[in-house]
Amino acid sequence: MRDLAEIQEMLRSAGLKATHQRLVIMSIVMKMTNHPSVDQIYGEVRKDHPSISLATVYKTVETFVENGLLSKVATREGQMRYDPRLDNHGHIYCGNTKELLDFYDDELNELIIDFFKNRKVNNLKIKNITVRINGDKIDPSKDVIIK
Ligand SMILES: [Zn+2]
Repeated sequence: MRDLAEIQEMLRSAGLKATHQRLVIMSIVMKMTNHPSVDQIYGEVRKDHPSISLATVYKTVETFVENGLLSKVATREGQMRYDPRLDNHGHIYCGNTKELLDFYDDELNELIIDFFKNRKVNNLKIKNITVRINGDKIDPSKDVIIK
């Protein structure tokens, strides 16, 4: 977990003023490892900071996305989820449990980069790759194992 000084620095280096609300919201998002929706973030924020509104939380996380501090992932149903992990990784979305799980696979990323190279896709520089796999857990009581 990151401390407040680190988050302050993160905001400043993204060109954002480290306001109290931004610090509160970012530190909460960074603790949430489940790709929360804005409502889930708001649910956590209001526990200790009831004066911060849902609209403020929404506006703030969108500002973080615009400034490259968070990424946004849409579920199969089109709900937006927020992700503090900015490295190249893919997601598996489970329609039964609405969970969004991270997966890391360099081999898959290389395959995709080679695929585009071999297909001679011109005039495109790939900046990042985010593969999303939609599925349903066969047994919702068990975790999906990614080997
Ligand atoms: Zn993720």
